[in-house]
Amino acid sequence: MPGFFDTPVEFLKGVGPQRAALLNKQLGIFAFGDLIQHYPFRYEDRTRFYTINELTEEMPFVQVKGTITKKEMIGVGPKKRLVAYFKDETGEMELVWFQGIKWMLEKTQPGVAYVAFGKPVKYGKRFSIAHPELEPLTEKNEKGGYLQPVYPITEVLRKRHLDSKVLVKLQQELLALAKNKIHETLPATILRQFKFISKREAIVNIHFPKHNERLEQARQRLKFEELFYIQLRLLKLKLVKKEKYKGQIFNNATLLTQFYNEHLPFQLTGAQKRVIKEIYADMRSGKQMNRLLQGDVGSGKTIVSFVCMLIALGGHAQGALMAPTEILAQQHYKTLSKFAEQMHITIALLTGSTKKSERKEIHEGLREGSLKILIGTHALLEEEVQFKNLGLAIVDEQHRFGVAQRSKLWEKNTEVHPHVLVMTATPIPRTLAMTLYGDLDVSVIDELPSGRKPIKTIHKYDSHRLEVNGFLQQQIKSGRQVYIVYPLIDESEKLDLKHLMDGYESICRAFPDEAISIVHGKMKPDAKEYEMTRFAKGETSIMVATTVIEVGVDVPNASVMVIENAERFGLSQLHQLRGRVGRGAEQSYCILMTSFKLSADSKKRIETMVRTNNGFEIAETDLQLRGPGDLMGTQQSGVLDLLIADLGKDAKLLQAARETALQILEKDPDLLHPDNGVIREQVGRMRKSMVNWSRIS
Ligand code: ADP
Ligand code: MG
Repeated sequence: MPGFFDTPVEFLKGVGPQRAALLNKQLGIFAFGDLIQHYPFRYEDRTRFYTINELTEEMPFVQVKGTITKKEMIGVGPKKRLVAYFKDETGEMELVWFQGIKWMLEKTQPGVAYVAFGKPVKYGKRFSIAHPELEPLTEKNEKGGYLQPVYPITEVLRKRHLDSKVLVKLQQELLALAKNKIHETLPATILRQFKFISKREAIVNIHFPKHNERLEQARQRLKFEELFYIQLRLLKLKLVKKEKYKGQIFNNATLLTQFYNEHLPFQLTGAQKRVIKEIYADMRSGKQMNRLLQGDVGSGKTIVSFVCMLIALGGHAQGALMAPTEILAQQHYKTLSKFAEQMHITIALLTGSTKKSERKEIHEGLREGSLKILIGTHALLEEEVQFKNLGLAIVDEQHRFGVAQRSKLWEKNTEVHPHVLVMTATPIPRTLAMTLYGDLDVSVIDELPSGRKPIKTIHKYDSHRLEVNGFLQQQIKSGRQVYIVYPLIDESEKLDLKHLMDGYESICRAFPDEAISIVHGKMKPDAKEYEMTRFAKGETSIMVATTVIEVGVDVPNASVMVIENAERFGLSQLHQLRGRVGRGAEQSYCILMTSFKLSADSKKRIETMVRTNNGFEIAETDLQLRGPGDLMGTQQSGVLDLLIADLGKDAKLLQAARETALQILEKDPDLLHPDNGVIREQVGRMRKSMVNWSRIS
């Protein structure tokens, strides 16, 4: 039964069919419910006036009362501007116009009192506002006293005169109708516990806040609600899976013990041992495992994956490991086949370039069960790949795959789903992990193998290239190898490729006596592989490459990573690249080369890299700088199109929402208790309206 909030937006006074079509297309607003959830993204603070000596650079928009003392034209060409000196009893500031100068010259009159409204910026000692809204001071605007909502719109809407001001009117219209129809969506227990305001009050105040404090209360309440229902959903999924899906019981540790006693190449770190224990506990529990294994680059996830496979093999099942790229799959295969050989275990590699005859053999071996371990790329997901009994499916670097692919792997054993282990080297901030992987259990390798020296990270401007080259020369002389990485954000970008080739040539000139490898995305896989191998064997001392080397490649003798145009890389990517060195016992270096001019964000990224090697700290900073939408691998998830909550900023609220959801589900998994009636109803509504709810399944 369609309710009030399902009414098409067309029927709101002031909308009509044409505007409705625009709202549909541009903002995805179809019904009253969509419009009311189109929240302002900021508010113009007209609650009070600021005096000039109160201004700070952090203030978004402010209004100041004052008079213009003098006007003058400054600069020439595009820098030509009108400056008005604006004074109140506490000081002086500047109002600046670059456009519409003529009009403003006429409009501004010295000696008259004005209200100027805009973003204060500090130049030297003085504040200025560029292109302020300027109105003569009147009795009406002198009172002030409100927060003006500003709504997100698009360029098209602006051109069609459907701007934020129009939306303000529409929202006022809608709220007048809707106010008494807004029902509560959180149970009284939660409202009491967190002292939240009601849903109705929250909705009214998110659009038209009485004052800042009320606005903050509205925000908190709506953010919590959004996060709470997502967490409830994820946790419910997790519980359902745990209840519903049986797992094969693997409790035979013979192979594992044999490997530990006879072939273990090094002492496992405490963290490696701990996560293996956690995984083993899952695999023998009788429940199907869904676990995320997080570990920074170089923390030693590969050997953990092998040991876990031995647990499955000990129970006469098979194991599979899926990697995101061909190169990475090959590298895994090389590492693991050494171990497998020692243990007399059959292992094969399946990728897009595996020959047909070989492919057939692999398929047969898997079906019969004579082939025990399969390493591969997404080729592993193909229909023909059928296992006799897949016991453990491991996915490396999950962010490059989607959740859908994860579930395809799990369909590879329909009788009893395989245990699933997702490994990621991208440290994910806790808030994001809780949302992206909220349905998984999490293990963390938070310790690097001993004997590693922390990588020294240095920032150098391009003008210091000679000095850097001298340093590289010295490192190479003492037997080390060097990576030099160029940005190739989009492999099809011709300019970037040219940049790389130019760089390669100048490196060849600078190091005439060295053998130099080059690898980029435009090369054929076997040519790439050939160059990689040469470098890995130590036949070449410099590897010039694009980010294709970002994942996987392991050359312990390489001790220097030079990153060209480092300002063009994201933080996570820089950290991943840096992780390519520091794998041996030698002191390693990461040199970030940039031009002299850096944006504030680039500066922060470079500073962060120089300051810390801690992947989690880096991930947190990255999240704050870029917001979750841009973080690696979160694009396909859709989980992150939040209406109001911000995973970068609302960590505490998220934690509270998750804990609350967990407590409720633990006590009342089917939400049958009368206290939870409100939740049950809301879940039903969300399911029906397919908003939010379906996005995360
Ligand atoms: P990642 O977690 O990035 O996949 P790898 O599994 O590739 O890390 O391990 C990085 C390097 O560290 C490899 O050369 C591996 O052999 C080595 N390594 C792993 N665990 C240990 C350990 N416990 N002690 C010493 N070296 C280790
Ligand atoms: Mg790895």
